[in-house]
Amino acid sequence: MLAKRLITILPDLTMEEAMEITKIHSIAGELKRDGLIMNRPFRMPHHSVPINTIIGGGKIPKPGEISLAHNGVLFLDELAEYGRSTLEALREPLEEKEITINRLNGNYRFPCNFMLIASTNPCPCGYLGDEEKECKCTEQEIHKYLKKISGPLLDRIDIQIEVKRPKYEKIMSKNKNETSLDIRKRVNNARNIQVERYKKFGIYSNAQLNSRLMAQFCILDKRGEMLLEQAFIKLKLSVRAHERILKVARTIADLDGEKCINYKHIAEAIQYRSLDKFI
Ligand SMILES: [Zn+2]
Repeated sequence: MLAKRLITILPDLTMEEAMEITKIHSIAGELKRDGLIMNRPFRMPHHSVPINTIIGGGKIPKPGEISLAHNGVLFLDELAEYGRSTLEALREPLEEKEITINRLNGNYRFPCNFMLIASTNPCPCGYLGDEEKECKCTEQEIHKYLKKISGPLLDRIDIQIEVKRPKYEKIMSKNKNETSLDIRKRVNNARNIQVERYKKFGIYSNAQLNSRLMAQFCILDKRGEMLLEQAFIKLKLSVRAHERILKVARTIADLDGEKCINYKHIAEAIQYRSLDKFI
């Protein structure tokens, strides 16, 4: 449910993004009507579809789901059910934001700058860690189940959260929650801060920062620095995870309207790596 709602809080599409989305859908033969597509795509390929459908391919290569999700969301429900080769094939596009398909008559390059959302049960029965219901799986079964999600793939997922079964009172609560529209305003504000900050450098978001720009724009306070160092050692984080925590913290600071990243922002970003410990 959360994954499907995410699309409603993403920043507004720019004209350039809308053109890219429309072009890809057009060559894939997926354009349903005339005119530009003005919404961010949400793609949800089933785990049983072949790898080519997800990555792209065919005799005359066509964009796959990762490209149809360009500038939008690719949602993989029950991540551990997807084939290992499909999951591993996602690593390159997640990094490069484009995919090259080689054929005898030439190479085809499709953009695929998508946001990956994935969900998984913690074990085959789904109750591992549940406070009320007992997990019936053996350690071996759990290990086999989660083994498909490799460390390198997990490393590329910035935010990993354990979602507990909500209490009944919470589902029925009449408390007014923040609407998508309100949240989207905050997201757009944070995006505008980034567009402004990076306009000289030809990028528009924290995710696109290279290490040189990170040194310039991801400045930590002393406490934050210490906290990150401790987490790096204790959680045995990779260099990539370290970099990603910094970028997420930069975004949290932007949502807060803060110029510098402080320890609270870092603490929140570290908290979002819960699967690193788990798996
Ligand atoms: Zn279980």
